[in-house]
Amino acid sequence: MPRSRAPGTAPSAPTRPRLVLIGTGGTIAATAGDARTLTGYQVTQGIEAMLAAIPGATDVADIRCEQPFNVDSRDLSTAQVLRLARQAERHLRDPDVDAVVITHGTDSLEETAFFLHLTVRSPKPVVLIGAMRPASALSADGPLNLVNALLTAAHPASRDRGVLVVLNDRIIAARHAAKRHTTRVDAFGADGAGVLGAVTDGRVRYAARPELPETAPFDLSGLRALPPVDIILDYQDAPLHPYSAALQAGSRGLVVAAMGNGSLSPAAVRGCAQAIRRGLVCIRASRVPDGLVTDDAAHANGPLAAHALNPLQARIALRLALARGMDRAEIAELLRRL
Ligand code: ASP
Repeated sequence: MPRSRAPGTAPSAPTRPRLVLIGTGGTIAATAGDARTLTGYQVTQGIEAMLAAIPGATDVADIRCEQPFNVDSRDLSTAQVLRLARQAERHLRDPDVDAVVITHGTDSLEETAFFLHLTVRSPKPVVLIGAMRPASALSADGPLNLVNALLTAAHPASRDRGVLVVLNDRIIAARHAAKRHTTRVDAFGADGAGVLGAVTDGRVRYAARPELPETAPFDLSGLRALPPVDIILDYQDAPLHPYSAALQAGSRGLVVAAMGNGSLSPAAVRGCAQAIRRGLVCIRASRVPDGLVTDDAAHANGPLAAHALNPLQARIALRLALARGMDRAEIAELLRRL
């Protein structure tokens, strides 16, 4: 039904979506010596220049750029991720901002995305994007990925879907996003439920709503640092020394990237038992990319099952849980819900 307006008044101009675009670096902001070099590159481009170089990008919305840092994502510190999360949340609370887009290196993008998924409380869209090829490359994927991310963030149907990752035309729930290829532009996959939609010819289409049992169980207030938690890979004939080293280094928790459905080598069983006696919380996640780690009576007093979280996600959740003073029983319950 058309909206009524007072006689004689002009129709109000449709308001353009107002986005904040936060540049943090990564391959999308990198250049290499020549157009065929896809892997040896340096982060060189600021977010303003990157946006200005993409024809039509600013037609999508009113866009304000911010650049808290400009780094390869392998160099990101916890302090920087906390700063980014706070910055995003501050903008999302602003009634004059409709959505936030974050450009990010793809190597650790899924870690930041999951951190934001656990901490940012807002129905407004938060979209992370990156690129697999540097800006100087033939067929660079960054410009289209960025436009697709802006379109996704500006789309009203993107509200209330949790934190999103947009790469290679696909919209993926941050809860499920994972880098699955080292170099191809189609690098990001999702376990089962994660692909929510696509952007094709500038049109955003959703095919699914994410089933997110719990979003943002942690708030950021007062969080200045996170306790150290290590991930230890388990394998045939694994040694005990990584567990001793973690204890010696002052880790507060351990995540074992275990075999299969969280099954542990003898060293992992002993290492976790030692760590638990010293008061650490240990989690059995799996080194297998897809599937759950289920409860197992054999480990009733040992490491907790990660359930649907992969080792990287379990580490992030455990750091936040420990920072909030949760005990073993509360963490066990949290892992079931995430
Ligand atoms: N090394 C890069 C980074 O994570 C890789 C990329 O962005 O694709 O920053």
